[in-house]
Amino acid sequence: MQDCLFCRIVRGEIPAARVYEDELVLAFKDIQPQRPVHVLVIPKRHITSLADATEADTETLGRMLVVAGRIAVDQGSTDGFRSIINTGRVGGQEVMHVHMHIVGGQEPVGPML
Ligand code: IMP
Repeated sequence: MQDCLFCRIVRGEIPAARVYEDELVLAFKDIQPQRPVHVLVIPKRHITSLADATEADTETLGRMLVVAGRIAVDQGSTDGFRSIINTGRVGGQEVMHVHMHIVGGQEPVGPML
């Protein structure tokens, strides 16, 4: 997607603090961190939201989950973390390219939902 913000980060057109990358996914620090650890994990190939995911995205979405723990620990979340994917308007999704927030580094504040 030409104008998608996160596709532009994948292509290196917009700078990001990259913390993990493989052939399917990229992880970088959130520009407005809500916790000491706040990383976004995204598919390199554009998927607009979880509502748009298809069978063809299974490996990529699975990879996002599999690498989350390693990224969290590498970033200093050694005692657990939250992994959050907002979807669509009601889900509060602002950037329309699937991304999983990994947040941690301090005790959870407030209810889970
Ligand atoms: P959403 O509400 O789940 O869509 O979250 C979007 C996230 O993207 C927010 O936490 C933003 O701070 C983050 N974000 C927006 N632009 C950038 C950027 O250029 N680099 C890193 N994070 C960004």
